[in-house]
Amino acid sequence: MYYDKAESLSRDEISRLQLSRLRTTCERAARSRLYSRKFTGHGVRPEDVKTLDDLRRLPFTTKQDLRDSYPDGLNTVPTEKMVRMHVSSGTTGTPTVVYHTASDICWWSSMVARCMHMTGMRPNDVFQNTTSYGLFTGGLGMHYGAERLGCLAIPMGAGNTQRQLKLIQDFKVTALHIIPSYALYLANFCAQQGIDPKSLGVRIALVGAEPYSEETRRRLEDIFGFRAFNSYGLSEMNGPGVAFECPEQNGMHLWEDAYLAEIIDPETLEPVAPGEVGELVLTTLCREGMPIVRYRTRDLTRILPGGCPCGRSHVRIDRITGRSDDLIIIKGVNIYPMQIEQVLMSLPEVGQNYLIELYREGPIDQIRIKVEVKEEYFVEDMRSLNALKQKIAHKLRDEILVTPKVDLVEHNTLPKSEGKAQRVVDNREPE
Ligand code: ADP
Ligand code: ZN
Repeated sequence: MYYDKAESLSRDEISRLQLSRLRTTCERAARSRLYSRKFTGHGVRPEDVKTLDDLRRLPFTTKQDLRDSYPDGLNTVPTEKMVRMHVSSGTTGTPTVVYHTASDICWWSSMVARCMHMTGMRPNDVFQNTTSYGLFTGGLGMHYGAERLGCLAIPMGAGNTQRQLKLIQDFKVTALHIIPSYALYLANFCAQQGIDPKSLGVRIALVGAEPYSEETRRRLEDIFGFRAFNSYGLSEMNGPGVAFECPEQNGMHLWEDAYLAEIIDPETLEPVAPGEVGELVLTTLCREGMPIVRYRTRDLTRILPGGCPCGRSHVRIDRITGRSDDLIIIKGVNIYPMQIEQVLMSLPEVGQNYLIELYREGPIDQIRIKVEVKEEYFVEDMRSLNALKQKIAHKLRDEILVTPKVDLVEHNTLPKSEGKAQRVVDNREPE
């Protein structure tokens, strides 16, 4: 039933494994320039880690630390021992580099294979990776995992939707790795080509790399007839394979034999109460070439209480609501783009794409949401369109507490990027 027996270790076994791996991680990390400096600055030595609670004595690592250490300040072995490097997508600024040894790649691939197996993928599945290869970890990361599991892996890469579809059809693809915004786009594309997405026969989709709502998952499952499993990871922690949904589709199991998770209050840096939402902080437990201690992911989530009926003992994290730096403040109200997506994707008239624009009117910040409307609802009758506009604005106001300006646009008219979607455009001038 499980890909490996580590999935159902007892809590005690997990804790013991974590402590021994944490100690090794700290010993290794201390060999890098960054951590030798940080540990000394914090007055802590690797041998001071005697219990898991001692984790809190260790310094945090931030994205800025990684940038300042560019290109190899976190490496613990000479570059000759490294076999691969990846660079984060740079969604929020200067990219950061992560190096891997052969053993790191081996671990990472088996974690991804474990995730895939958990969703029900088996060696006889044909797996197409629709995300970009190259430096983005979702390419090679998923690819190696699929090969490790024994699937036929098709390294299609991003974009070129016509070819994407042809390969899916010709090779009877049964499993996909796909970014949510691209999955929505693919749905539109199929509609245009007169292809019923269900006829493609894909049964499993690994959907992640950017935030999306439960409403989007449901919409995708309805359109394609596959089951969509949420996939969470970040380059700093290898990439995909950190946390993944099981068949229960209720929270993502975070592999505690490979990562040590904490949830902190991003302001006070103290742990939040159990079950509360905060910033996810991760420590690598198996990485050799470039271990990272207490990495502040800036991703907001919570640990779900209770065990999972699937029997896996590793904790589950909730759907990521966004990054702490995604927060939009309009008229003093805090808004996360995910709240907007959730409302839009629950409305049948709304198409597969939208764009949030922030602008200033005099001294006041305003929010405008451009919404693609499905073809069948995009009628000439002004009165119906106005009614729809109002309906959307009201639904949004109920969720985000400010009334946005809503612009309806025809489907397939908003910009579409090949990688992660850029949902928010900030046209406010800097103060
Ligand atoms: P970048 O930080 O430049 O986007 P990465 O490719 O490493 O580079 O992206 C990792 C980030 O993507 C995560 O920190 C998180 O914000 C987001 N992410 C990845 N998977 C998910 C997911 N399933 N749900 C929400 N956000 C996700
Ligand atoms: Zn489970």
